[in-house]
Amino acid sequence: MTGAPDSCGRSINYLRVSVTDRCNLRCIYCMPPSGVALMPHSQILSYEEILSIVQATADAGISKIRLTGGEPLVRARLPELVAMLCRVPGIEEVSLTTNGTLLRKHARELKNAGLTRVNISLDTLKAARFRDITLHGGLSAVLDGIEAAREAGLHPVKINMVVMRGVNDDEVLDFARMTIDREWHVRFIERMPFNGEVDFVPTAELQKRIGLLGELEPRVPPRGNGPAAYYRLPGATGTIGFITPLSEPSFCSRCNRLRLSADGRLRPCLMSEDEIDLRTPLRNNAQLPELKRLVLEAVASKPEHHHLKEDNATYPKITGAGGVTNRKMSQIGG
Ligand code: SAM
Ligand code: SF4
Repeated sequence: MTGAPDSCGRSINYLRVSVTDRCNLRCIYCMPPSGVALMPHSQILSYEEILSIVQATADAGISKIRLTGGEPLVRARLPELVAMLCRVPGIEEVSLTTNGTLLRKHARELKNAGLTRVNISLDTLKAARFRDITLHGGLSAVLDGIEAAREAGLHPVKINMVVMRGVNDDEVLDFARMTIDREWHVRFIERMPFNGEVDFVPTAELQKRIGLLGELEPRVPPRGNGPAAYYRLPGATGTIGFITPLSEPSFCSRCNRLRLSADGRLRPCLMSEDEIDLRTPLRNNAQLPELKRLVLEAVASKPEHHHLKEDNATYPKITGAGGVTNRKMSQIGG
């Protein structure tokens, strides 16, 4: 299956499914310290509802699913959902993005349910700094979670680091060094603005700094669907990837994805406010053809590119009982 063609010549074959807006951490770039107003449980899609939507997207051309959140592992019985989605005709791969804190407990069960691989978010290798960035949680649990994923055969394990100037950018070389002896696939992500701020460290600057360790050799990506460009340090076991939503003008031309929020909205672009509500039709007994039609509508409405660096940029918003507020990454399903 080659995916659903959008109006800009891209092939859309990848769906990120947020299974919850809840999280056990409060990463400073993702959520305010007090957290965000949580969706009532009644608004969050059941696993059966997620299954119906995934069936419709598979019919439309989606073949790869990534579960995310919030923190997906705080939702009960996640392996059951993995097993349900793996059985959908047309779905070739179900993967997970997690903060890793609960992975030791669940890695084996997730693998047995059919999960293929995990991406783990880790922004520092220093315990005190980990607490400063996440406001909760311990670094050792995440490192143990990475090991548990490896032991369970969830390959390749990718480590996502959001680079923040003055916060953790002094650890970029330490993360790069981790790829030399271990099979870590580290991806440096430019911090995206969710409050209008743009304080990202451009990838070109990172590449120059990492060049001190050796010449970066371009690599074929380790298995995956993402927009990262991959490299390897000479003789290294793992790889180094760069995700460049802000510094690379053609970044969006490689976008192959849709996002489904925990409350059932299909989002054609992370950085656009446009969403298509699938929960209401679903709860009004819409059948597969109608859901598929809405999925194709979302594909067709994917914008050519985001507008984050333009003066009149808009940031993700959600309209709720409290009025219009910034919608955070944890609510969209990053
Ligand atoms: N809780 C899980 C985790 O942390 O991996 C999954 C959800 S989290 C929203 C998904 C990804 O979004 C993480 O890799 C996180 O680092 C990234 N993310 C969140 N806010 C971001 C921001 N402002 N800029 C870039 N990446 C961000
Ligand atoms: Fe939670 Fe992930 Fe957001 Fe951190 S990045 S607050 S772990 S959802």
